[in-house]
Amino acid sequence: MEKNQIIDLEITDLSYEAMGVAHYEGMTVFVTSAIPGEIVRAKILKVKKTFAFAKIEELIKESPDRVKIELNQWVQTGLASLAHIKYNKQLEFKRNQVVNLLKKAHLDDVQVGSTLPSPEETGYRNKAQVPVREVAGQLEIGFFRRHSHDLVPLTNFLTTDPEIDRVLVAVRDILRQYRVPAYDEIHNQGEVRYLDVRRSKATGEMMVILVCLHKDFVQLPKVATDIKKIPDVTSLVLNYNPKKTNVILGKVDYLIFGKPQLTDQIGDVKFRISPESFFQINSLQTPRLYDLAIKKANLQPEDAVVDAYSGIGTIGLTVAKHVRSVRGIESVRDAVKDANNNAKLNDIRNAKYVTGKAEEIMPKWAEKGMQVDIIFVDPPRKGLTPEFIEAAAKTNPKKIVYISCNPATLVRDLQEFQKLGYTFDQIDPVDMFPQTPHVEAVTVLERAEK
Ligand code: SAH
Repeated sequence: MEKNQIIDLEITDLSYEAMGVAHYEGMTVFVTSAIPGEIVRAKILKVKKTFAFAKIEELIKESPDRVKIELNQWVQTGLASLAHIKYNKQLEFKRNQVVNLLKKAHLDDVQVGSTLPSPEETGYRNKAQVPVREVAGQLEIGFFRRHSHDLVPLTNFLTTDPEIDRVLVAVRDILRQYRVPAYDEIHNQGEVRYLDVRRSKATGEMMVILVCLHKDFVQLPKVATDIKKIPDVTSLVLNYNPKKTNVILGKVDYLIFGKPQLTDQIGDVKFRISPESFFQINSLQTPRLYDLAIKKANLQPEDAVVDAYSGIGTIGLTVAKHVRSVRGIESVRDAVKDANNNAKLNDIRNAKYVTGKAEEIMPKWAEKGMQVDIIFVDPPRKGLTPEFIEAAAKTNPKKIVYISCNPATLVRDLQEFQKLGYTFDQIDPVDMFPQTPHVEAVTVLERAEK
């Protein structure tokens, strides 16, 4: 097999990154935006030892699951790499990811629920972070083509709240008007690297964050004056990121005007959110995710609860009024400040959050003999560490409710808990990210009776 070769392929599977999978002369070929059941004439783009990447030249047999509108840009950029597949099939795809991982781990008897659909299939994101680059002599916003840093200019981001798209385009036009240079990542020059816009679904307030190479730039006062006039924009922040890096946000924020935090609400709890703090991005699906997790926890008024990987305390503060106490752990200092302030804001007195790594704090708590009834964990993609798992089990909780954004590390961690005497019989996928291959899931582990 060689580059640029044209071959006909039958697509038999979808990879976890949502590429169509085919087999050809002992090689596995990943075809962008091809769907199982399709036959495609494909052009080989890249050849490795046992696998290759290809793109569709011609669709010979089309799947009935294909969405027929023009979605090329979104699929190409990886912004929404499932957007070419009908929504009910996306939900099946996500469930299958979990089923397949369980099979590989010889855990076939674990039940997998059907994926809980998102109330909104598009326009669900309350935050967008989009790169700013110069393309053909003009400042553009858009998204990078998959596996590259070529900017595809876009004005409709499909998965973000249309109100956010409106503000992104308005800010782009202001930057153009005052000839603010876009970031040039090759020479680490220019000014604006990213636009980050967030919107509270509860209040309609929007925060604009300009991620910049410098702390200031000559056009900033004029740019700020004009951004202030965009309807519903309530604050502007300059995030300073001087480094040559792929990390989007720098470590320092300068408030240019307005409130330093956005106020949002989940259920009947209010939250103030700082720019550096994590907040769930699917506003309407988040309370449904939490409801499911909380229902599975079967909380009792006397329970001592731990909220690990807490962000701004959304899970712990949602349950605080129904339990004895909540102790939270989160590594981002601003998020911990937000969590403790949010407790006050909602008149919650039995919740306390500390800054630190969960894998370091939990062993300390276990060492001190802390006894816990329920632990919620909601780690990033890399999952938990063995130190955390061991310490969590040592505090002897009745239940551990695991909210995961990566089923591969979820299944790995669940097996570790099994070795320590915890059992689980069901995983429930929840679609937090329609049109993308990301899978969120809730699992409850129970202490086996000794
Ligand atoms: N439970 C929250 C946040 C989940 S996102 C919610 O539902 O909104 C995961 C959070 O874990 C992020 O806030 C991240 O900053 C935090 N985090 C990442 N690594 C961590 C670690 N090692 N220890 C503690 N928190 C960590």
